[in-house]
Amino acid sequence: MSEKHIIAVLEGDGIGPEIVAVALKVLQAVESGSGHEFELRRAAFGGKAWFDCGSAFPEETKQVCDGADAILKGPIGLSFEESKKIPVDEQPERGALLPLRSRYNTYANFRPVYLPPELAHFSPLKPRVVEGGIDIMMIRELVGGLYFGKKEVGTRDDGTRYVRESLDYDEHQIAQILRVAFDEAMKRKKVLHNIHKNNVLKSSVLWCEILDEVAVDYPEVEVKHTIVDAAATALVLNPRQFDVMVMENMFGDILSDLAGGLLGSLGLMPSACVGDEKAYYEPSHGSAPDIAGQGIANPYSMIGSVAMMLDMSFGMTDEARKIWDAMRDVFGQGFTTADLKDPEGKLEPISTEAFGDKVLEQL
Ligand code: NAD
Repeated sequence: MSEKHIIAVLEGDGIGPEIVAVALKVLQAVESGSGHEFELRRAAFGGKAWFDCGSAFPEETKQVCDGADAILKGPIGLSFEESKKIPVDEQPERGALLPLRSRYNTYANFRPVYLPPELAHFSPLKPRVVEGGIDIMMIRELVGGLYFGKKEVGTRDDGTRYVRESLDYDEHQIAQILRVAFDEAMKRKKVLHNIHKNNVLKSSVLWCEILDEVAVDYPEVEVKHTIVDAAATALVLNPRQFDVMVMENMFGDILSDLAGGLLGSLGLMPSACVGDEKAYYEPSHGSAPDIAGQGIANPYSMIGSVAMMLDMSFGMTDEARKIWDAMRDVFGQGFTTADLKDPEGKLEPISTEAFGDKVLEQL
C-alpha cells in the first residue's frame, strides 16, 4: 500500500502561482511509481487572500494547514504601492507569514546556498573567488528576535512620533536553534560559524553564552565567531570559507538574501522552515512583483523547496536527490533562466514552464 501524505499548497502572490504550478508538476512526476501518494489541499494565503477573503491567513487556511503533513508555500507579498491598500497589521508578512511561523513554531530555517563548480559562472563574483563552487547552509532562527518582539508605536506629549521594537529571546529559544546548527555541522564539515553582534547587542551576548554551553555536547565541532557586519563582507570576499552558519532572525533574513546575490539570483534559493511538529517549505525570496505574470521567474527555488520537503518531511532522500540532479542537468545542458548571468552569451534562456518541462524530462 502506498504511503499517503497530505500537503497544504499555498500559492501566494506575484510569481507564486507560476512557480508553484511548475513545482507541483515535478511533485506529481515523483509520485508516480514512488510508493508515495500526495493529496494536495490548496488554500488562500497572502495578499490575494486578503483581497478575496478579507484576511491574509483565513481561518479555513489555518484548518487546511493544521490537517496537513507538510505545507508547501509560494512567496507572498505585494508591491510597495499595492501594500498600502491593506491596513499595516494585516499586510501579508505581518498578517500571514509571521502568524504561520508562530502557529507551527517553525524555529529552524534552513537556507542552502549552493552553486556547484560547473555552474559557478552564474555568480557575479570573479571566477577565482568562486572556482570550486559555493556550498553553505545558513540556519536562521525564525520565530524570535527582532521580528517577533514587542512593538509600540505612539506619540509623545510634545507631539513627536516614536516607535519601539524589541529583540527578545530566552535561553531555551537560543539553545534549540543552536542545537539544530550543531547537528547540521556534525553532518557536514564539523565547523560552525556563529554570526552575532555581541559588541553591541545584549541579545548576542546571551546568544554566545548559550552557544558555549551547548558546544560542550559537540566537542568535535569547531566554532568560529564572526560579527554580522564583518560576515557580510567576508561572504562577498570569500564565500568558500563558510560551511554551516547560524544566526538571529533578522541577521539571517538579510545575509541569506546577500547569499542569493552570491549565487547570481534569489531564484536559486529554496528553504525549509522546520518546527518540532510541522514544517513548511518556501523559496527564500519574495513574490517578485516586478516580473510577475511574464513567465520568466526561475522556478529552481520552488522546485528545490519541494525537494527539501520530500527529504525532510517524508524521508524521500533519493527522490529529492534526483530532483536536484535533474535541475542541475538542465543548466548543465546549456539552458538558463532570465534572471541568471550568461557571461559568454552561449546559454539558451527558457521560460518558467519550459524549465519545469526539462526537469520532468530528466526525471
Ligand atoms: P523579492 O525577493 O520578491 O525580489 C527581489 C528581486 O529578485 C527582484 O528583482 C525579483 O524579480 C528577483 N527574484 C526573486 N525571485 C526570483 C525568481 N524566482 N526568479 C527570478 N527573479 C527573482 O523581493 P522584494 O521585491 O523586495 O519583495 C516583493 C514582495 O515579496 C514584498 O511584498 C515582500 O514583502 C515580499 N516577500 C515575501 C517573502 C516570503 O513570502 N517569504 C520573502 C521576502 C519578501
